Amino acid sequence: MENVIILGTGCAGFTAGIYTARANLNPLILEGKQPGGQLTTTSEVENFPGFPQGVDGYDLMDNLRKQATKFGARVENAFIDRVDFSDDCKTLYSGDKSYKAKVVIIATGAAPRLLGIPGEQEMYGGKGVTTCATCDGAFYRDMEVVVIGGGDSACEEALFLTRFCSKVTLVHRRDELRASKIMAKRVKNTENIEILFNTETVEVLGDGNGVTGAKVKNNVTGVETDIPGTGFFVAIGHKPNTDIFKGWLDLDETGYIINVPGTSKTNIDGVFVSGDAADHVYRQAVTAAGTGCMAALDAERYLAAKEG
Ligand code: NAP
Repeated sequence: MENVIILGTGCAGFTAGIYTARANLNPLILEGKQPGGQLTTTSEVENFPGFPQGVDGYDLMDNLRKQATKFGARVENAFIDRVDFSDDCKTLYSGDKSYKAKVVIIATGAAPRLLGIPGEQEMYGGKGVTTCATCDGAFYRDMEVVVIGGGDSACEEALFLTRFCSKVTLVHRRDELRASKIMAKRVKNTENIEILFNTETVEVLGDGNGVTGAKVKNNVTGVETDIPGTGFFVAIGHKPNTDIFKGWLDLDETGYIINVPGTSKTNIDGVFVSGDAADHVYRQAVTAAGTGCMAALDAERYLAAKEG
């Protein structure tokens, strides 16, 4: 039986790996379908502390992996499709194979929702389609950009982007914003944000090098228009990767794991959570790393108390 199994190899998972490995807990990190997590879909990361020149997302994750394995963390490729947390020994299943551990640290992250329209996937991560204004906004200084969505995230991203961009076009499929009143008012009162209501995006347009705009359709009149923009920000929500924990862990209505405030503890002893799987508010690489550290320290204390 393993001391600690960490699920996920994003910032949270590898940070938990570094800390538990340095605590001599010999952690096993299981890598799922997106090795390295969300940062591997970003080219340049400029807001991770310690990198004044910025760092390539893939390189950052590769460094975190090297740092964790240097201290003895083992990484294995296994997509866990079922768990059993019914007793002290936790069991994780990947098809026919099973893993047993005294402690499980969940770092399975969340996936940004995408529209699934032509051009989106082709230009995602580096060519102009992105899901994070905080990460990528500064690359679009003095340019026109498009933001999709009508919730708080879309409004927050649109407002944030006005700091850099000459114009932000917010495209929303209905005739009113879902966002909180105060946020919606702020967006409506911002001069360089234009809101296109009742508008769906048909295609992300590009010239081979990157995004040049979007083809949109008014769903009341049926009229299609091409709108310009070198950045295409999709802000239609996230889906936490937590389906396998349904029935075991307390989840909120969207599926985010509910942790004991100020800790990484879940409702099950010996199961800790870190990163975006429990965070719909901050969702940053550095906060994921921070909560990965918290989960490792909580795990270490849990094992020390249990084993004396
Ligand atoms: P959200 O509230 O679920 O909003 C998603 C938006 O995307 C909605 O306007 C929705 O349209 C639209 N959408 C969904 N699927 C779409 C599709 N296939 N095509 C086009 N549009 C689509 O998600 P969120 O904005 O990420 O917010 C998530 C939670 O975090 C919310 O509780 C929010 O209040 C909170 N949050 C708070 C803050 C803040 O307080 N500062 C900031 C960010 C998020 P419809 O409106 O038509 O459904």
